[in-house]
Amino acid sequence: MKIICIGRNYLAHIRELDNDLPTEPMFFMKPETALLSAGEAFPYPDFSNEIHYETELVLRICKLGKAIDEKMASEYYDAITVGIDFTARDLQSQCKAKGHPWEMAKSFDYSAPIGEFKKISELRNPADIAFGMKLNGEWVQQGHSRDMIFSFDRIIAYVSRFVTLNEGDFIFTGTPQGVGEVHIGDNLELFLENEFVFGFKVK
Ligand code: ZN
Repeated sequence: MKIICIGRNYLAHIRELDNDLPTEPMFFMKPETALLSAGEAFPYPDFSNEIHYETELVLRICKLGKAIDEKMASEYYDAITVGIDFTARDLQSQCKAKGHPWEMAKSFDYSAPIGEFKKISELRNPADIAFGMKLNGEWVQQGHSRDMIFSFDRIIAYVSRFVTLNEGDFIFTGTPQGVGEVHIGDNLELFLENEFVFGFKVK
């Protein structure tokens, strides 16, 4: 399986990082080794001094597709959860400055903790999914899927032009504003439609 991540999909987050407004989705990938087992703590990596959390909705692909028509795209994902796209912001800044790829800053081990998936059809409001994260008991990110620049369907259509999607692949759909640093000892709790999904510590 593979993990595809969309960057720059919420206006307020683009502004907080001083990035340009995209005209098309931008994506990158994380390997399967980026997953963090349920109940495990996130080990703060020794190669960075600035690990940021990015709280995101994560889609699960339910059938194989290539060059998917946007009008048919909703048939290719059936479940959703919340996850963290951990980012070594210090390394990412170095990569950007040198024009290098981002993998070392985005795709490292345990950089993609995700919760249990829920059927999208069982959500209270699939048209506007609320999600968020509490850091040490305080809300630091709260987002709504209606604020995405590129919809789930647009993302599926766009990405599948380049990369075949397989059943079981995950797609991180971008972070709203409020990204920030984690530190050893921090406790993260993730929510979907205001219901607790999962939590973990940084060690
Ligand atoms: Zn992200």
